[in-house]
Amino acid sequence: MLKSLFVSIKNVNLILFCILLLTFLTLPSYSSQVENNSSEPGNENSIPVSNANNTSNKNSNKTATVSKKSQESKKTSKSNSKAYDKEKICYLTFDDGPSERTLEILKILKEYEVKATFFVIASKKNEYLKQIANEGHAIGLHSYLHDYKKIYKSEKAFFDDLDKISDVVKKETGLNSKVIRFPGGTSNQKAPKGMMKKIAKSATDKGYVYFDWNCDTKDSWGNNVKKKDIIKSLKETYKNPYLKQDGRVCVLMHDSLYKKTTVKALPDIIKFFKKEGYTFEILTEETTPIQHSPAK
Ligand SMILES: [Zn+2]
Repeated sequence: MLKSLFVSIKNVNLILFCILLLTFLTLPSYSSQVENNSSEPGNENSIPVSNANNTSNKNSNKTATVSKKSQESKKTSKSNSKAYDKEKICYLTFDDGPSERTLEILKILKEYEVKATFFVIASKKNEYLKQIANEGHAIGLHSYLHDYKKIYKSEKAFFDDLDKISDVVKKETGLNSKVIRFPGGTSNQKAPKGMMKKIAKSATDKGYVYFDWNCDTKDSWGNNVKKKDIIKSLKETYKNPYLKQDGRVCVLMHDSLYKKTTVKALPDIIKFFKKEGYTFEILTEETTPIQHSPAK
């Protein structure tokens, strides 16, 4: 009798221990949900850090945006088989070329056996377009004039300009590129209010795929930004928790006359991502876009 009572007391203790253990294990997830709900930002589509203008965002906002994204991706992961979940892919992108720097960039890319994407403008060095394409890199359309006031004046002005750079690429390479990057990115503050949303939607309707970036070297912040600052900026935005949700990094760099330090930093940038286990790919029409403000 006494023995059976002792055994039942032991069982009660075991049950109590299990309840305590379960409570302890479920507490952290509960508290993080409360945190997310209380600090949810207004725009859930924003990509923190990727836009240079957003670098002053508070950390809490970043975390909340990321957590929201994470929740959404969990919800859609079953239906979206194209998710690049945690695949380490690096897209090196160069805007504003071809230029006096293009051949130096191509040489480094060849040396390290990696491919990149060039978002091009009308340039005195258009003859390099063929070489870019021949060496297996992608050519995306950026702009003919790259003059914010002119190209973002109206939808018509934008697409007239885009058609002109498209014709240049066709003439030089025979390619009909449908991959684009808007000057300043979709999130630029230079276009009139509402214009980017309209243009982005029309671009998608016309069959273009547009890409922004989620890793900024900030080499556009001045001429010949110091190499160490380029690497520092890259590593800062690379730490963005948003990237870890997807695994893909789209690096913004520039190919132009005064971006000599970008060329100097390029080998270290490639080595950094190789060491981190990334593979390098080009952006194509089939690539799931990386965008700041997707057209709705
Ligand atoms: Zn540009």
